[in-house]
Amino acid sequence: MDHSQKLSIVNSRHPQPSTGTFVVGDLAVADGIIVDERRAHTAPCPRLDAAGCFLLPGFIDLHIHGGAGHDTMDATPTSLPAISTFIARHGVTGFTPTTMTAPHPPTVAAVQNISRSLAQVMPGAAILGVHLEGPYISPRFPGAQAKENIRPANLAEFGELLAAGPVKLITLAPEEAGAGALIDAALAAGVRVIIGHSAASYEQAIAAFDRGVSQATHTFNAMTGLHHRKPGVVGAVLSDDRIFAQLIADTVHVHPAAMAVLARCKGLDRLLLITDAIRATGLPDGESELGGQPVFVRDGQCRLADGTLAGSILTMDAALRHFIAATGWPLEKAWPVTSRTPATALGIADEYGSVSPGYRADLVVLDQNLEVVATTVRGRVVYLREGEEWRVGVGD
Ligand SMILES: [Zn+2]
Repeated sequence: MDHSQKLSIVNSRHPQPSTGTFVVGDLAVADGIIVDERRAHTAPCPRLDAAGCFLLPGFIDLHIHGGAGHDTMDATPTSLPAISTFIARHGVTGFTPTTMTAPHPPTVAAVQNISRSLAQVMPGAAILGVHLEGPYISPRFPGAQAKENIRPANLAEFGELLAAGPVKLITLAPEEAGAGALIDAALAAGVRVIIGHSAASYEQAIAAFDRGVSQATHTFNAMTGLHHRKPGVVGAVLSDDRIFAQLIADTVHVHPAAMAVLARCKGLDRLLLITDAIRATGLPDGESELGGQPVFVRDGQCRLADGTLAGSILTMDAALRHFIAATGWPLEKAWPVTSRTPATALGIADEYGSVSPGYRADLVVLDQNLEVVATTVRGRVVYLREGEEWRVGVGD
């Protein structure tokens, strides 16, 4: 009997679709979709036992450059599968590989490579589209983006990037020359526009939101800060309920108290955790590379030679743990910030980010310490922690 397309998940503690509060129960999955969130399949089929654990919608990372020695900009056939496998071990089931601010040809090559990779089934987390970080950002807030590659908005170039692959997100500085027309072109093409690496004033940021910018890249980092007479991009993001705010919750990029402030201002429907992880993630401390520049990883921090923070070596499971510690929010309240909210920000919340019938069976099983026990993508177990083999088998 062929039951390869079915999976029963039993004894899981998961958020109820209607209220979000946790219930213990069984789930039935067929053809990669949750078909029943209250009972398992009655016929024998593969099963996953989540006893003693939480089951959440799989993590969605909208800002990730790389991991496990690989980077989106490598544009090789092996890079994205390797990143996909690595982040699935940390509970990520969907991601938007994120480019760096680079010359045009390698950026096109990276987008084309993502497009080719979409045609194959990834071994772990699924690719949900491309996030372009730059190159149309502010030279005043390069962060770890190579300054010489920052340039004014260029509609012809952007058109080529759109043609090269499934661009879904672009981070740009709306105050820069030509940015307005580029925002309009992006929105017309269904691309969500994110303010980031920006020297905008509060007023310029609000004008960009009115124009359709809907999200902020790594809030607090590489943007004008909050001053009580010059509220800057941070003040605009904190005070405007339309805007989704990305947060690198590693406690290095943002102090835990500032994380708590952001959580109070934005709430769980507008705050989303990202990793901004680079190729060094998951590797031992030492020298690595980001956007063609050497970076140095030590004590959980990545920095350029001049000390500038350069991406992170954060994983999403750790981000969730840091976020809960910083805010005091229980998991029952905080869980959407790693799945439902990023899905909403990307416009895919009708299929991703809920343990409900009709939703993708992209799920993560967490133990009581919020460490990842198992990850499923489209109902397929893509990661199972060592020692947990007893949880899988064929049951009735
Ligand atoms: Zn950045």
